[in-house]
Amino acid sequence: MKSILEGRPALAAEVEKIAEVAGYLWQNGWAERNGGNITVNVTAHVDDEIRTMPAISEVKQIGVTLPQLKGCYFYCKGTGKRMRDLARRPMDNGSVIRILDDCASYVIIADNAVMPTSELPSHLTVHANLIESGSPYTATVHTHPIELVAMSHKREFLGKDVLTKILWSMIPETKAFCPLGLGIVPYTLPGSNELADATLKELQDYDVVLWEKHGVFAKGLDVMDAFDQIDVLSKSAKIYINAKCMGYEPEGMSDGQMAEMTKAFNLPR
Ligand SMILES: [Zn+2]
Repeated sequence: MKSILEGRPALAAEVEKIAEVAGYLWQNGWAERNGGNITVNVTAHVDDEIRTMPAISEVKQIGVTLPQLKGCYFYCKGTGKRMRDLARRPMDNGSVIRILDDCASYVIIADNAVMPTSELPSHLTVHANLIESGSPYTATVHTHPIELVAMSHKREFLGKDVLTKILWSMIPETKAFCPLGLGIVPYTLPGSNELADATLKELQDYDVVLWEKHGVFAKGLDVMDAFDQIDVLSKSAKIYINAKCMGYEPEGMSDGQMAEMTKAFNLPR
């Protein structure tokens, strides 16, 4: 069967980026077994031929009605699929779905009938909010970065912007490249509506949110942008932990040095 990516370099490039990031998640140790999810809005790369492609799955209910997604197409990681496999074979470990006109259901259109992640409702709800707010963001990523999850086990770090300030102060680039900081979502059952609602709320103020004792959820212009923000935060967490392992509390950049960064780089905070 011909792949949907054939003859469509822009769509193929988008899926290549997803595969590349999936490889990084695995290599970083952030994606054990089938851990983590990636959902990308690929509607901008959809042509008339794709719009008439027949469904290759039954009609599936999303579980929520999202009118903002009318006419949208998404690449979604498959349920139970591994990031390390997706890195090599993205169209065998994920699929492209079409949101149907009732905005409450979808079908798979390519390449194989790989069922999307069980986290699809929460990912699509975030995408619907992005569209509604006119955001140019197209990607959502959930993964389990070791150092950030480790830091989420300490109660004092979970106050608003406590971790943001520590992580920003470890190395100037973190403030520059994750300028909104790190939101915090208290521990909630994975896959629950409560987790989705709390995540949605935090994503109004942050691009990356930390799920206590679980992982992170990030949004970005594309999948690489979402990954980069998680990566810079993780780098800072590693520096903090390395300093602690050497037996001292790292000094961190001063408030004055951080304010200087905000001014020099025209940062939002
Ligand atoms: Zn998870």
